Amino acid sequence: MPNAKLKRTQRLDPRRPLVFDTRTLGSASAHSETRTVPAPAELGAGMVRVPESSDLELEVQLEDVTDGVLVTASVTAELVGECARCLDEFTSSIEVGFQELFAVEAGGSGDDGYLLDGDLLDLEPALRDALVLDLPLSPLCSADCAGLCSKCGFRLADAEPDHRHPDDGGVWAVLKDLLPADEASGAEESGRAEGRAESEAGRPRAQAAENGPASNGRQQNTSSTGTSGPAGSKER
Ligand SMILES: [Zn+2]
Ligand SMILES: [Zn+2]
Repeated sequence: MPNAKLKRTQRLDPRRPLVFDTRTLGSASAHSETRTVPAPAELGAGMVRVPESSDLELEVQLEDVTDGVLVTASVTAELVGECARCLDEFTSSIEVGFQELFAVEAGGSGDDGYLLDGDLLDLEPALRDALVLDLPLSPLCSADCAGLCSKCGFRLADAEPDHRHPDDGGVWAVLKDLLPADEASGAEESGRAEGRAESEAGRPRAQAAENGPASNGRQQNTSSTGTSGPAGSKER
């Protein structure tokens, strides 16, 4: 045969799950059959694939036509994919229908046609082509997948319904969260220092303030009364 674009040159093994024997047609013009076959390896594209050896449910009709055998098939397959929005793995299924002519001889209807191998027909390349074409480019775990938080990357489906961040302040919002705590404790300490300065008559305020932040023994005594708040002010 002069045409070099044969899909294969080896003799097909008729026992392979995706090989059909056109002799089942007999004298009839069409033959239908259903088959469950294990998915071949590396069936998929991008972020989705059909797990190897998972069940492919096939419905195939072979039809005797002038140039060869016309195959009308539908395949239902399991899918495993990675959600394009939330990056979680998910499973689903796909059903793909296709129709291809398997020519007796090459060179008839275009270069990419499929060929019969004697009485045998290997559906795998046609099935691969049809299925891969139909796989979603941006698969989603569900149509309304909320994706990931744009600020912290948390998967929103797993987050509290009111998941949000101190708003719109960006970096400054985070600092604002930190600052009040520091300021509050700073104010407390200087307040204590002042109280102490007043109770220890004669001591200059400034010196007491200098001692303030340090935690020597006396300071801790003072602060234990200081933290009790109202009691501290009564002592004055
Ligand atoms: Zn998702
Ligand atoms: Zn977030």
